[in-house]
Formats: sequence, structure tokens, C-alpha cells
Amino acid sequence: MWRKSAAVLSITRRHLLSTRTNTPPSRTLTLFSYFHTTPEQPRVYNTLTFQSPATARFSRRNISSDSRDILNCWNCNAVAASTTPFLFCQSCRAVQPVDHSIDYFQIFSLEKRFDIDDENLERKYKDWQKKLHPDLVHSKSKEEREYAAEQSARVIDAYRTLTDALARAMYIMRLAGVEVDEEQTVSESELLCEIMEIREAVEEAADPQALNEIKAQMQQKLRVWGESFANAFQNKNYVEAQKSIQRMTYYKRVNEEIVKKL
Ligand SMILES: [Zn+2]
Repeated sequence: MWRKSAAVLSITRRHLLSTRTNTPPSRTLTLFSYFHTTPEQPRVYNTLTFQSPATARFSRRNISSDSRDILNCWNCNAVAASTTPFLFCQSCRAVQPVDHSIDYFQIFSLEKRFDIDDENLERKYKDWQKKLHPDLVHSKSKEEREYAAEQSARVIDAYRTLTDALARAMYIMRLAGVEVDEEQTVSESELLCEIMEIREAVEEAADPQALNEIKAQMQQKLRVWGESFANAFQNKNYVEAQKSIQRMTYYKRVNEEIVKKL
């Protein structure tokens, strides 16, 4: 499995990131324990842990042992088209091993930005799932079936991460090499007051209609702060981008709290 030279920098950076972000998901949630955690929450953070440091080291060794600027199919040695992510070979259709230098945006041929084309993503996701479907590889070698299962799992992770605004924001920050500190304490009194008020409103909501109203407000706030994040990120204002992420985390948590009560 040979990688493009541009990918070398990317995976080296990710190796550094992955060693720094090897924090158990439960610890990353302490700041937001204000609202109860749900089984889904650690999953979001899990999707942001790219790979174990051991895997990253292995990948890097592969790269440094060969500087060829091309990717070849393990089965037929065909050169990968530079325009498509190398999940399976265009010539012999063999499923390729997972290549962690291909990021989630590249899997779906999307531009690396916060605002993404949802319809396009949905279509491409279904397309990959069809191509990697177990029925299509059941007659292949055990090795290739394992590749397909791993690729399929990664495509699902990519889809879940990119369709969730908060997970997408955190992911794109990490791709940019910016560490998102989930344990940063909230010091803005305005935000603290707001959180208190929302929490009281959720606790005092007497019926589903009242809860749904708060839920709609949270979704609106998520959209607004998502736009703030997009602007800040585009302008490389990562301090503001981080603040937007912090807000989004709270509003998402309230949303989940409401869903549990409904
Ligand atoms: Zn091939």
C-alpha cells in the first residue's frame, strides 16, 4: 500500500494527534456532565480517534520505506486513479485495505469545509455501502472480506461524523491540526446563565409540546452556532471556532436530554 507524498505529512500529523488524543472518552465528557450522558455520546468521540498509535506508527513506517508517489492495487498492481479515493480497485474490483491517509471528506469526494452538500453525501454513502456489501465479496478471500468489512465500518464512521454538525466541526478542526479541548471550563457568565435557564426549563416542562418547543430552540441555536463555527474556521480563527464548538456541545446535549424525556 503506497501513499502519495502529500499524505505523508497528513498521516505524520495524525500520528502526533492520535498520540496526544489518546484520552478515554469518559474523561473527555467531564465538562459536559451537566446533562446526563447517553450511550451515543462516547461513540461520537470514538469516531474522532483516528487510529491507535501502534497502527499509525506502522503506516508511517510503510511510507518512509518507499517514496513512490502512487498507490497500487494489492491484487493486480493497477495504479489508483488520483481522482477517486482508493477503497477498491477500478481495474480488478478488489477491495483495498483501509488507508488512514484518506480522510472522511475524501471518502465522499467532498471539499474539506464545514458546510457540506448533504444530498451528495447521502448518495455517495449509499453508493459505497453497495460496493462494499458483504454479498459482493462473499466469494472472495478471507483477507479481502476483512478489508471490505473494515472499509464498510470506516465509511459508516465517516458518514456518522460528517452528518452530525458537532462531530463534523470537531473532526475538521483536528484535520486542520487544531486540538479541541473538551475539558475546557466554561467561564463566560452569559453562557453559564443561559445553561442554567435552559436546564430549568427542561426540568419544568410539563408536556411534550413544551419540550418540543425547547428542542426547536436548541436546533435553531445549533444552526446559528454552526454558522459561527463555519465563519471562524474559514478565517482560521480557531479560538472563536472552539467557542462555537463549546456552545454546540451544550445545545446538542440539551437536545439529547429532551429526546430521552419525550
Ligand atoms: Zn486491482
